[in-house]
Amino acid sequence: PEAERIAKAIARAGLASRRDAEAMILDGRVTLNGVRLDSPAMNVGPEDRITVDGEPLPARERTRLWIFHKPRGVVTTARDPEGRQTVFDVLPDDLPRVVAIGRLDINTEGLLLLTNDGGLAKVIAHPETGWLRRYRVRAFGDVDQAALDRLRGGVTIDGMEYGPIEASVDRAQGDNVWLTLGLREGKNREVKRILEHLGLSVNRLIRLSFGPFQLGDLEVGLVDEIRTRVLKDQL
Ligand code: URA
Repeated sequence: PEAERIAKAIARAGLASRRDAEAMILDGRVTLNGVRLDSPAMNVGPEDRITVDGEPLPARERTRLWIFHKPRGVVTTARDPEGRQTVFDVLPDDLPRVVAIGRLDINTEGLLLLTNDGGLAKVIAHPETGWLRRYRVRAFGDVDQAALDRLRGGVTIDGMEYGPIEASVDRAQGDNVWLTLGLREGKNREVKRILEHLGLSVNRLIRLSFGPFQLGDLEVGLVDEIRTRVLKDQL
């Protein structure tokens, strides 16, 4: 390619989204031809040498995609200001650099998609893509199916609209209920907020599927690569 913004070149290499690449530059993590940058307002071409955290920018790889079974207790950010363990700290060592597609909360488990292609990550996470996210949830409290059925038309909580939501009670377990929820949005803390609105307090949240991809019996902490041919049929 001809000249392009340096953040775009970093994003194309699969290291980060364009916005995150700009933040890396502002954080002083990027050099261009041996000079540390403090601003992303810089164009680069194929002959320019870029490093991120001291490593040369890798050549663009073919797009790859993985399912990861995220354990509880890790955050889905590249760098946590509070220094908590991240998803990227616990991934198998043989994985190339990847970004997460969307986020799961620290205590959420289950299916997280990973890719080496920052552009693909954006497309899939975009609300317009509208892929179904299915969750299995354990929540403290009581709810009846009629209340859950009303979620089908959507619900507004503190000015934020959610929906349509498919939800059903699977079974009771002591003071808890197990539910299955399906949403097509991916808003911040949506499952917890929606169930809180119904008087339930979520204490276990597992994502079972995202779009065409299922967690299945993938073990916690492991990844499974998806053949991207499967993906092209879905987008
Ligand atoms: N909804 C939540 O509340 N948390 C998640 O991690 C995902 C969906």
